[in-house]
Amino acid sequence: MPELPDIVIYIEALEQRVLDQTLERVQITSPFLLRTAAPPITTLEGRKIVELRRLGKRICISFEGDLWLVLHLMIAGRLHWKEFLVRTTSVRGRDRIGTGSAARSNATRVAKNRLAIFDFPSGSLSLTEAGTQRRASLHVVQGSDGLQRLDPGGLEVFETDLENFAKVLSSANHTLKRALTDPRLFSGIGNAYSDEILFGARLSPIALTQKLTSEQIKRLFDTTRTTLTRWMDLLRAEAGNGFPEKVTAFRPEMAVHGRYQKPCSRCGAKIQRIRYASNETNYCPNCQTSGKLLADRALSRLLRSDWPRSIDELEGIRSGEPGKEGPPKE
Ligand SMILES: [Zn+2]
Repeated sequence: MPELPDIVIYIEALEQRVLDQTLERVQITSPFLLRTAAPPITTLEGRKIVELRRLGKRICISFEGDLWLVLHLMIAGRLHWKEFLVRTTSVRGRDRIGTGSAARSNATRVAKNRLAIFDFPSGSLSLTEAGTQRRASLHVVQGSDGLQRLDPGGLEVFETDLENFAKVLSSANHTLKRALTDPRLFSGIGNAYSDEILFGARLSPIALTQKLTSEQIKRLFDTTRTTLTRWMDLLRAEAGNGFPEKVTAFRPEMAVHGRYQKPCSRCGAKIQRIRYASNETNYCPNCQTSGKLLADRALSRLLRSDWPRSIDELEGIRSGEPGKEGPPKE
């Protein structure tokens, strides 16, 4: 799932391409994507984009008239940009892609995964979602009130201090893995970067938040910021002037995430995993759990009991939304 560093880089790339541009045409090709009926999405056509903003793991695009398009990529949603060099040739070129059979099947696959297309004078922005599950969502809302209703309410780690971070972290007695990835507690952190942060801070993913020492909390706070900053720098350098087309949760530069059984870059021990729900967390037993290799099953039980039933449940919750799990208790 694209997390804070990925979303920031997407937004920077979009700012360079669509800020101050008028949306000419929008096509929604998946019936599951758009979650709001009013205002209709076609209202955005003919309006200029005036601002882009991140809200947790969501990308928010503001149009003239204080209308916001809010996009949540969930796990497999990705954005793509196709520049119109000379517009007419480019459109014709697009049609020509379907001539060979390999090209045709590729084009069919892309078309099947494409959920929406936004056309601007300078290029076309499309949203795809790999796989068969349709989880990515789009909302069109009016003003900051509408935007606020979509805000899970998590703390922005770059806009807070240690004291506030500690308060939010220990507001409920969760495992560290759960607390870091709960969008109501912290903004923009998911499965991949929480693994990397916990490795950096040498903390166990199943340590309980209310049992941490103040020294451990400070280390976590500092490491959260340095880890996210390092990844933003890395992804920014990788994208360069191009559009970020290689957004993935698994990168060779990662220390533990997606590296089960590979050697730890710090101590050489084999990276371990704990499976829970439909997820897993990766950690180094030497660096993070005092050298103890704990039974996967026992850990899984502990994490699972601290976990909502599905990722959609965790991502879908909004602060104080009735009928769902409420905000964490003080
Ligand atoms: Zn290690």
